[in-house]
Order: sequence, then structure tokens, then C-alpha cells
Amino acid sequence: MPSHNLAYIKIDELEIIGYSVAGEETVVAMPQLDVCFDIGKAPDQIISINHVLLTHGHMDHAAGFAYYLSQRNFCGMSPGTILVPHNLLRPIREIINAWGRLDGNEVPGKVVGVKPGDEYQIKPNLFARAFPTKHSIGSVGYCIIEKRKKLKTEYAKLTGQQIVELKKKGVEIDCPLEIPIVTYVGDTQYVDFSQLKYIVESKILIVECTFYEDQHTDRAEAGKHMHITEFTSLLDKLDNKHIIIVHTTQRTPMREIRRLLKESLSPEKHERTILLMDRR
Ligand SMILES: [Zn+2]
Ligand SMILES: [Zn+2]
Repeated sequence: MPSHNLAYIKIDELEIIGYSVAGEETVVAMPQLDVCFDIGKAPDQIISINHVLLTHGHMDHAAGFAYYLSQRNFCGMSPGTILVPHNLLRPIREIINAWGRLDGNEVPGKVVGVKPGDEYQIKPNLFARAFPTKHSIGSVGYCIIEKRKKLKTEYAKLTGQQIVELKKKGVEIDCPLEIPIVTYVGDTQYVDFSQLKYIVESKILIVECTFYEDQHTDRAEAGKHMHITEFTSLLDKLDNKHIIIVHTTQRTPMREIRRLLKESLSPEKHERTILLMDRR
């Protein structure tokens, strides 16, 4: 029996598995991209994923990182890689070392500090780019970007033979092309993410919307989370094909959250929106 009953979403061929309830646990993995956003309490199903991308240090998002590294070692896998906000590097290394002393066995793993704008290579053509969020000091979100090369438009009509000739002459016929596949925002209060082109162009947006009721506006503000009113104004500025809502509060029943979302979003935006915890 796996440790967690995870939600499951499939968009085109891309699978998303996870669990996300505000204050309890948040972990969202995309196995084909080999990334896991936040780690929650380290569900069994994500241990084999090679990269964990932590957005901030709150326990409900980060508790399982040492267990993740240790389980990989126990199961004979290569050491895992954890990307963390740069200001958390030290405490995270200290925790890993402390667990090593407790356990009597060193916990192998690679911990990489990131600042907004930094990129980390996941696969030959796949990169994780960090961007700033407004939640805790140093908190970041991540966008997974595929990088390809595209024939420059001025050469688009050439034949294969002509292209070979140009290449032989050393002419640069390609230009770089970035395809943002998924953006994971993590915990954050409202930020105008439409300022970042790669977030606007992400095919999938995984975003928190923690609170829904009018009486929870203050809670949203105090915890630096989004309320549905901010969430809807954010969506107005974005155009992602698929929007996955995570980090929903336990204070409002799921059927009420569903109802309020339907009421607040335009039919066209509502159609693109999925509640992660509805897919279990
Ligand atoms: Zn949280
Ligand atoms: Zn948090």
C-alpha cells in the first residue's frame, strides 16, 4: 500500500500527481518531467523522481526532504537533487547532517540554492527557472521550460539542400526557442505574474488559491496567501490553457469551493480550471 492516496491528473500525455491541503501537506509531482514541486511528507510514489524543487521552508511543503534523500539511498537509487531558496541552504544542510547523525548513516544528496532568475538543468533540453513569490523570505516558484532551436524565419522557405549549404558555410540558421511547459507558483500572496512572459505562456499553471469565503480575507492576508478575489483578478491577466488549483483550505467544504469558483470565474476560465484535490 502506498503511503498516500494522491490526486491524479492527465493533461495531453503529461501526468500530474499530488496532494495539497493548506497547512497540512503540499506535494505536486510530474514524473515525466522528473520534477516534484515541494515534497510534503515525501509520499512513496515520488521517491524515484530525481529533482525536488522546494518553494519555501514551511513544514507542510518541506517536511519530507531528508526522508526522500534517505529512502533513495535505502532503495539503491542515485542521490536525489533538491533545489531550495538560497537562504535555506544552510538550515537544510544542517537538518540533513543532523539526520545522518541520528540515523548513524550519512544521508547522501545534492542541495542546490537558487535565487529568482536562476536556471537548473533537469534534462538535456529541460530547465527549471526560479522566479520570486511573496510568501516568506526568499520564497520562489518554478517554471519548467523546454529549450529547442528553431529555423530563423528568413530561412524558412529554403530547401534541405540549401540549408545544408548554409550550415557548411558556418551560417547561424537557428534561433533559440523556449517552450514553458508548466509553472508552479507555490504559496504566495497576489503578485502580477503577467509581468513574466514565460509564466503567461506556460501551458499549465499550478497555482494556490487558499481561501474562498468573504470572512477569510484577513486570513489570506495574514498568511500571505491568495483569496479567490485575488485569484480571479490574476487569472484575468493570464492565458494558460490549463489551470490547476492547489493549497485549498480545510475551512471551506470542497463543494462550496467548487460553487464559489464557478460563480467567480468566467465560463471560459472555469472550463480550464481543475481543483487538484477533486481528482482523487
Ligand atoms: Zn502552505
Ligand atoms: Zn507557506
